[in-house]
Amino acid sequence: MEVSVFDALPKDAKGLMDWSWAEFGPYYDDLIRRQLSAETVPRFLADWTRLSEVIDETYSRLHVATTVNTADRQAEQRYHTFLDVVYPPSEDAEQKLKQKLLAQGVVPDRFEVPLLKMRSEAEIYREANVPLLIQEHKLSMEYDKIIGAQTVQWDGKEITVVQLRPIYQSIDRHLRESAWSVAAQRQLDDRGSIDRLWDEFMGVRAKLAANAGFHDYRSYRWKQLKRFDYTPEDCKRFHEAIEQVVVPAAARICERRRKLLNVANLRPWDLDVDPLGKPPLAPFQDVTELQNRAAEIFQHVDPRLGGYFDTMVREGLLDLENRKNKAPGGYCTEFAAAKRPFIFMNAVGLHDDVQTLLHESGHAFHAFERSGLPYYQQRQVGMEFSEVASMAMELLASPYLAAEAGGFYSSAEAARARVEHLERWILFWPYMAVVDAFQHWVYENASEAHRPSNCDTQWKHLCERFMPWVDWAGLEQELVTGWHRKLHIHTVPFYYVEYGMAQLGAVQVWKNAIVDQPGAVAAYGQALALGGTVSLPDLFTAAGAKFGFDAATLDSAVSLMEQTIHALNAR
Ligand SMILES: [Zn+2]
Repeated sequence: MEVSVFDALPKDAKGLMDWSWAEFGPYYDDLIRRQLSAETVPRFLADWTRLSEVIDETYSRLHVATTVNTADRQAEQRYHTFLDVVYPPSEDAEQKLKQKLLAQGVVPDRFEVPLLKMRSEAEIYREANVPLLIQEHKLSMEYDKIIGAQTVQWDGKEITVVQLRPIYQSIDRHLRESAWSVAAQRQLDDRGSIDRLWDEFMGVRAKLAANAGFHDYRSYRWKQLKRFDYTPEDCKRFHEAIEQVVVPAAARICERRRKLLNVANLRPWDLDVDPLGKPPLAPFQDVTELQNRAAEIFQHVDPRLGGYFDTMVREGLLDLENRKNKAPGGYCTEFAAAKRPFIFMNAVGLHDDVQTLLHESGHAFHAFERSGLPYYQQRQVGMEFSEVASMAMELLASPYLAAEAGGFYSSAEAARARVEHLERWILFWPYMAVVDAFQHWVYENASEAHRPSNCDTQWKHLCERFMPWVDWAGLEQELVTGWHRKLHIHTVPFYYVEYGMAQLGAVQVWKNAIVDQPGAVAAYGQALALGGTVSLPDLFTAAGAKFGFDAATLDSAVSLMEQTIHALNAR
């Protein structure tokens, strides 16, 4: 290939954080003007990749800067300027380039799946939907605002409903109940506002689908989420398999919990406390210790992956400590041009921090592995498999949590951490089924579901079907409004089943590792390196797993999890 101006774009975007559209725009114009032929497509894609990489990385770096220091006004300003000035025209130009490539008709090597995604975007794109999508986004922001404003008086202080959560782990049952009730009452105060918002969400979504020529919102959303490898019927089969296989296993876990807590029935405030009344695990003193022990664990999982983590330590790509003026939560992002991931979290010394670092590191390893693919679009992976990368790492690392293997704990503590982890995963599937089945019902029965009281009834019915172990007696209103408290239902419809699928993939990777760790980890790495160049079933197969929704696949996973729980408890 001959030289192009795109080769002069920097190797990372550190120096581009103040670039405006005046600097980025000409590169897009250059690409848009080109004549495409079978011979020129590779150069076109290579240059487009360089441009997408630096824009993507500029966005990531600007966003990271706002989260590592929320008090940095200049960082916030730069980030908003980018969103207002660079992002909209770049999206528009990206769409033009996709259409240009589609019109040309050439299918470059290992580009079938990226092209399928582009075609799907082009198919549902309608000028008339642009303002509706903005309206939908504004409704989501309104939902976030309502939830974010939910504060209560506790111990003479005003705190958020989320900040009450640690009290649900208290061994004092009365204290747990009063914290839970205070939160529930506050959430019920917003019932009317969320019901009104729901009506607007439903209206906008019906219009989006109709404008794009779909009979119902779900078919539209399926395309928008680029779900090519499974159907709504598959999801329903998944729900049925969960009902058949996971619900009985989860009921056994809850029954054990009930006995250990020595209570007549499990109430909603009995689900987070340690059933043996032990204090929380305290795995590390400071983030240096967290980092060093994690590094050792990854070496045990696989030296190659351990090497990636060491690179992140060496290059300052981890911001782990909780400190003043840091945004909440944790994430892994990517600097696409530099081909490096970045992990952000707020460690305070809990086991959850260990779990978060293992999880986010799985995402980071994915970024390293797929960075060898030549084109930007080949590196984009759907959540169904991205979460296999991260969730499988939680399980692959779990045998090394004890100090004797480089980890954090005595062997009894490590066993406790693993039991909690596996139990949480088993309990997740039924809840996921409630959330997903609810939404299928909503968009199959849109006119009924416009009425919040019908949604209440449906939610209750699904909770009784999938989570019968919680005793909601006397808490009717709290029970039926559970769908108000699940943000995905409101702001990112249908986006949830992905976690259930990924969890099933992750357990299968771990199952292989029990028999042959080097082989299982090698397959995992090869699957990660495929990026988004093959279908979901092929990604799962490469990782040594089956992309399945059937009871048999689920049963084999759940049996292994339950057996492991029993073995760990018997230690
Ligand atoms: Zn994740």
